[in-house]
Amino acid sequence: MVVVNAVFFSGPQHNRIMRINKVAVALFFVAIAALFGFRELWNSSSSSGQSLAERRKFERTNNQQLEKKIDELIGQMTLEEKVGQMTQINNSEIVTNAAWGAGADLKIETRIDTAKLGKIVRKYHVGSFLNGIAVSSQTWYQFYKDLQAYNMKASRLKIPVIYGIDHMHGPNYLEGSTIFPHAINTAATYNNEFAADMARITATETAHLGHQWLFAPVLDIARTPLWGRFYETLGESPYVSSTMGSIFVKTVQDEKAYGPYRIGSTAKHFLAYSDPKYGWDRGPADISEQALYEFHIPSFQAAIDAGIKSVMINSGELNGEAVHGSYKILTTLLRDKLKFKGVVVTDWEDIIRLYRNHRVAENEKDATMKAILAGVDVAMTPYSTSFCDHLVALVKEEKVSVERIDLSVSRILRLKLELGLFENPYPANDKFSKVGSPEHRAKALAAARESIVLMKNENVLPLAAGKKILVAGPLADLKRPLAGGWTLRWIPAEEEIFPRDMLTVYGGLQRQFSAPNVSLAATADELKRKAASHDAIVVAVGELPYSEGFGSIHDIALPADQAAIVKAALSTGKPVIVVIISGRPRVMTDLFNESDAVLFAGLPGFEGGQAIAEIIGGTVNPSAKLSFNYPYSVNRLIPHNHKISEVLLAHEIENPIALRAFGTGMSYTTFEYSNLQLSDSVLRDETASVTASVTVKNSGSREGKEAVLWFLHDEVASISRPIRDLKFYEKNLLKPGESKTFTYVIKPWESLYFPDEKGERIIEDGYFTLMVGNLKTRFKLQRSSAVN
Ligand code: BGC
Repeated sequence: MVVVNAVFFSGPQHNRIMRINKVAVALFFVAIAALFGFRELWNSSSSSGQSLAERRKFERTNNQQLEKKIDELIGQMTLEEKVGQMTQINNSEIVTNAAWGAGADLKIETRIDTAKLGKIVRKYHVGSFLNGIAVSSQTWYQFYKDLQAYNMKASRLKIPVIYGIDHMHGPNYLEGSTIFPHAINTAATYNNEFAADMARITATETAHLGHQWLFAPVLDIARTPLWGRFYETLGESPYVSSTMGSIFVKTVQDEKAYGPYRIGSTAKHFLAYSDPKYGWDRGPADISEQALYEFHIPSFQAAIDAGIKSVMINSGELNGEAVHGSYKILTTLLRDKLKFKGVVVTDWEDIIRLYRNHRVAENEKDATMKAILAGVDVAMTPYSTSFCDHLVALVKEEKVSVERIDLSVSRILRLKLELGLFENPYPANDKFSKVGSPEHRAKALAAARESIVLMKNENVLPLAAGKKILVAGPLADLKRPLAGGWTLRWIPAEEEIFPRDMLTVYGGLQRQFSAPNVSLAATADELKRKAASHDAIVVAVGELPYSEGFGSIHDIALPADQAAIVKAALSTGKPVIVVIISGRPRVMTDLFNESDAVLFAGLPGFEGGQAIAEIIGGTVNPSAKLSFNYPYSVNRLIPHNHKISEVLLAHEIENPIALRAFGTGMSYTTFEYSNLQLSDSVLRDETASVTASVTVKNSGSREGKEAVLWFLHDEVASISRPIRDLKFYEKNLLKPGESKTFTYVIKPWESLYFPDEKGERIIEDGYFTLMVGNLKTRFKLQRSSAVN
């Protein structure tokens, strides 16, 4: 009973109360405590009943040699050396020009400052560094070679450093690299190949440069577009995020092609970072335990099952607990329940913020103790070594046990050993030619083409060759909005840093329709003046790049000055095509209704300008479908997998919740869905399955790809169910007139269960509605053994 209480009790008082419970109930603990020291006892056990020693044993792999090496190293390391392994420092602290990491000129000379590095490595034995901006392969190579060489000389036990980096959509911190669309677009492709391509190309272009601890993928679920990191997610669907996320993890970690270099990836940001109550980045989230298991945990669980090597923590608070100080979230949930065995890394400066922002610790030292006891392995400090001083002191004062430190160090050494860093600590300079190669860019272009959603088309698109096009809008001739945040630097603010051959929307249209047919209007007046001599107006609106807190907004409406340009275009009477280049939906319902065509381009990456123009010109047939509900009005930000009761009066139609719903997107051909069939209408057993099939016919006149999305709704359940929930998808190419049968095998333990508030999977008898395209049918689960 005591143990059960302990498992679910947590928070800042957690450690203290745990101690009281144990001492009060289990008297023999007192005797043992007297023998071994009370603090040591507490530190050596966990609230799940698993001692730190048991935990360390549980995490051992079958690789005896590797485990032996870990034990030997830990046996030889001093406390200071161990704590150093748990520390991660920003590159700004070890280079000659500190502005480098903060986004200085790309051509800046970047060299290791041996005086600074010397102190960090020799005195503090720091085992990890992070961050960067997009410098050349040669610069990265030299930087990492110098860093590692210095470290290997200084390290008594020859433990290599590991380097962490945020390559979020291709190798975005490498000059000349292949830049894919952001994740919100990848999800809209409903084509898993692109998740794998992005992983493979990121690794191929960077693994040999020392970029072996990848701070991706983002497995947070899109829940509110007010949040500035919406675009980094794989959309609203836990199924899509789980599927594409785990494909990314497996590809980037298991692919042998980058050998001898291997990459460890990071699932971030655990947990529920994406749903702050008021949309503000790093703000508190209040979410029921059941909803956590329903929406936020599945993608992380899938990544853990796929073997993810590390997890980064949510900087905010969840249900009243600062996540970085929460034993309940970082140990009871992440390790005991979800069975994660790898390295837990903090987010940026977040131990200090337990003290400074969340105020759940009295000072930095107290914050350090709380974070370590909660389950942190590596502190991204990232500017200071005070973490090392505090943690060493805490161990000496017996507030943190050596066993607890050893547990983290064993995880970190295992990561380094598994990645082959001990055998191959140095980067290679013979693979630079792969960076931004034509084959890689072709993959990014293919991804961009399949990621742009045609939301509306009143017989205007595609525009025929030879048409005269006027291009307007604040984003019409800019590169950086297509790329978004986390490109070349954290927030790219300068156009000049983008590749010369990268096309803007204007540039793309010039290429597609030939330059003399395409002209630019910089202002509304110019637009009105020039409109008469053109056949159509393309208006590019949306957002300039932002990252993290800089992307939090108060108003989801399209900014008024941008709306004014669209209005000016509409006033000309010419066909108007609006292109939205944005990391999230911006509400513009009236303008949408009046426009002739609307493309949601999202953040399509470096090849986006070309892809947009090809879709407008019709050489590419769009096939993306929205990965979120595009809101109809500013105060109705409701995802597609909402509960019936959330939209009481309108639950049978998506409007006015969504202007365009999750999973919708048009093509230049038409697809007809028919003959929805089930192999049986009753499932009599939890282990049985029903095969659903549907015929999809390309009834139009051109070839096109169709993503077939299968949704389920559990009609009556003890916990109210989402009105629809995506369970499976498949995308295929169909020639004009061609029909294909798509199938979905429905298995209760894959598709029909739902989680309760403890994460237990429940299956209940009853009816399920199956939806695909415009068709639906029902089937029933009726287990013979069930009481009803
Ligand atoms: C972000 C993380 C990122 C880290 C390191 C943080 O501010 O929240 O996603 O991995 O910085 O750059």
